This record gives sequence, C-alpha cells and structure tokens, in this order.
Amino acid sequence: MKLVFATNNPNKVAEVQKMLSNTIELFSLKDINCFDEIEETESTLEGNAKLKAAYITQKFGYNCFADDTGLEVESLNGKPGVYSARFAGEPSNSENNMKKLLSVLKDIENRKAQFRTSICLNLDGKKFLFEGVCKGEILKEKQGKKGFGYDPIFKPEGFNRSFAEMTSQEKNKISHRGIAIQKLVSFLDKNYS
Ligand code: IMP
Repeated sequence: MKLVFATNNPNKVAEVQKMLSNTIELFSLKDINCFDEIEETESTLEGNAKLKAAYITQKFGYNCFADDTGLEVESLNGKPGVYSARFAGEPSNSENNMKKLLSVLKDIENRKAQFRTSICLNLDGKKFLFEGVCKGEILKEKQGKKGFGYDPIFKPEGFNRSFAEMTSQEKNKISHRGIAIQKLVSFLDKNYS
C-alpha cells in the first residue's frame, strides 16, 4: 500500500522507514512533489496532526498520515507543548530552545516531563488517531550528541542516559513517536495487509 508521511523532516522519515513492514510503501512530501509550507495553526497536537493530514489528502488525494509532537513539562503546566519547535522564537532553533528551557527550569526541582506524539491517519475516507507518550525528566545540562531537538536534555524514565546518548534503534523502541508509530503500524498490519 502507498502511504504518504506528511513531513519534510528527514530524521523522522528515516526513523519511521526502519519500523514499517515491506507491505507499506512510504512516501515523503518531497516524493509527491509537495513543497508547500503547511502551517501548524491549531492549539493542540491532535489538531495540527489532523490539519496536516487533511491538507495532503484534500490537495493530493493520497492516503496519508501526519504527526505532531510536543515536550510537556509538568512544572510549566505542559509547556512548551504544541509550541516546542518555536519555544525560543522563530526560526526554530534547537540550541536556543534547550537553552531557554534549562534557564526557565534553573531553580525548579520538579524536572518531570513527557514527550507526546499525536498521529492522524487518513485512510480510504476515514480518520484514525494514535498517541505515544514517553515519560522522563529534563536534565540540568546537555548530555550526548545524537538525535535532534531536545534529545540532549531529555532522560527517559528507567534509563540513566539521555535520548542523545542512545542509538536511533534504542530510542525508537521507547520514544513517543516510536510508540505512536508502532500503534499505527500494528493497526495497518491488522486491517490492511
Ligand atoms: P514535530 O512536531 O515532530 O516537528 O516536533 C516539534 C518539536 O518538538 C521539534 O521541533 C523538536 O524541537 C521537538 N521534538 C519532537 N520530537 C523530538 C524528539 O524525538 N526528540 C527531541 N525533540 C523532539
């Protein structure tokens, strides 16, 4: 089955491609010649995932899934959440985002946080939602060089390493996006293989 993953982020396409079975042919936005900037204007992760998937299905007619992820920090009432990419302003810059978060949390003891991914799948005229959560904590300083985004300052629960100190395979098994994608993949396997 042909399926579009509505993203321009090569890190995400690579992560997901490794998890999909051979029965699903995955296409990126570039593969379908979509170079449009799809603005994430909703105030929730679910809303943005739905909006992106709907844009592709309506304009290009493909079965498609889109995701949106946020880092939700407990002591900040779930912020930066849907605004994680732009936490330190635009254009999006991971170094500045991490610096800002470390500075905001400087004197705060409660470092609990979670990444949450929402996926919207548009398939044959129906809409399906999947969610993945990875609980953990925000470190006091950066650790590790792998990954992207907030990886160097996020330590998942039950591990003594940050996401940026894990291989992509290790991270995929426990990450928010990995869990959401696993739910999507098993749904597709069960219903559409
Ligand atoms: P997106 O919706 O996947 O583009 O994620 C929004 C923002 O959340 C990104 O710009 C990153 O800053 C952050 N983010 C998403 N996924 C991850 C991850 O796996 N590790 C670290 N940061 C992430």
